[in-house]
Amino acid sequence: MYDLVIVGGGVWGCAAALAALEQGCGRVLLLEASPVLAGESSGKSGGIMSEFAGHPDDRVWVARSRALFEAAAQASGDAGMVRRYGRLVVAGTAEAPAFRRVADELGAEGMVSEMLSPEQVRARFPLVDGLATDTFGLWTPGAWHLNATGYAQTIVSAARARGLEVRLRHRVHAVRIADDRIRLEGPAGPDGTHATVEGARVLIAAGTWTRKLLQTAGIDIPYRPYRVQLSSIAFAAAESLPIISETATDMYITPDGPGSLLVGDGTQLWEHDPDAYEQAGDPAFEAEIAAGLARLVSSAGDSAHLRRSWAGLCGATPDRRPLLGPVAERLYIACGDNGSGVGRGPALGELAARVAMGVEPAPARLDPFRFPSADFRLRPGSGFLVPD
Ligand SMILES: Cc1cc2nc3c(=O)[nH]c(=O)nc-3n(C[C@H](O)[C@H](O)[C@H](O)COP(=O)(O)OP(=O)(O)OC[C@H]3O[C@@H](n4cnc5c(N)ncnc54)[C@H](O)[C@@H]3O)c2cc1C
Repeated sequence: MYDLVIVGGGVWGCAAALAALEQGCGRVLLLEASPVLAGESSGKSGGIMSEFAGHPDDRVWVARSRALFEAAAQASGDAGMVRRYGRLVVAGTAEAPAFRRVADELGAEGMVSEMLSPEQVRARFPLVDGLATDTFGLWTPGAWHLNATGYAQTIVSAARARGLEVRLRHRVHAVRIADDRIRLEGPAGPDGTHATVEGARVLIAAGTWTRKLLQTAGIDIPYRPYRVQLSSIAFAAAESLPIISETATDMYITPDGPGSLLVGDGTQLWEHDPDAYEQAGDPAFEAEIAAGLARLVSSAGDSAHLRRSWAGLCGATPDRRPLLGPVAERLYIACGDNGSGVGRGPALGELAARVAMGVEPAPARLDPFRFPSADFRLRPGSGFLVPD
């Protein structure tokens, strides 16, 4: 029997695995359904991390996650794992008071931000020439683009060196709660029986599958997966742009290394099944973001070219805060990224490991059962930028 089994090899599960071993946990096993680590939402993400966060918890988690990403980048020698581009949030003038309030709060904590008129934006970033007159740009230098896949691989190598066992292509089909252990039923063998793994404690960090998996143990949580899309776009001057988020459209643009941009949008406001959703980008989405990019950056209209698009899922919760803690005796979960789980994932994975090991009490404010599991309204945007 393992001391701790972690289900899900995305950023959260990988971070939890390393943290558990660093905390002195004995036998730790990481189970991942795909053939690769971070192949699902983590690998599909836009990789944006921003310290301009409305919720104080997020600021703590972003600061810690950045330290963990930077440590991994240094250990791997891959400087491209964390690239600092800064971020320009484009919002309507009616939103200015809310942004000013957060900017003042962050200023008191020493974080730099500036509110710029469309002319000032153009003077600072000559390529960003399309802001409407009734908008402003909030510039924060503390924003980064991350390579989540590289991070996951690096920290799992470090965890393997400390004794982590990893099984890829191992999908857990059902969770069974016994008196003194958790049984995880895995793939069927040649004789039709399911390989079972047992853990004294189990942490489920299965991203948008977490709710479905828990339902096999008769447990339900307030969690709804929603679909978001992203395009990779060739644009020679990509790294002359900052990361840009536009609140009116939910569109975001981030440099993705030299000559490359990622351009995405926000929430599709209905629930999606992680086992049955359209994984390719929609033609209408591609047309929309091409027009949006050309509107904000006119030179992209002629010279930017779509490489490919894809869709992935994020996990919504009623208050857009994570669900992290016990859901039964010895059974823990960490999910509910609400669209910002790469930039906060390392810290949340670390916290989940500490909670699952009993090193730290589960924070009541992240209690997975703080809301009923009944359906709730999906809301646009990530809720990360400015509090509700
Ligand atoms: C298009 C897109 C853009 C995004 N952009 C950003 C961004 O810019 N910044 C940001 O911070 N966040 C962004 N996100 C959100 C971010 O990707 C997620 O919050 C983050 O990846 C969540 O990590 P995770 O480890 O919880 O989930 P995942 O990466 O999905 O990992 C869960 C893992 O569990 C495995 N699994 C599931 N079920 C089982 C099972 N039964 N048995 C074994 N393994 C199982 C899955 O295969 C998967 O690998 C974006 C997401 C998408 C889709």
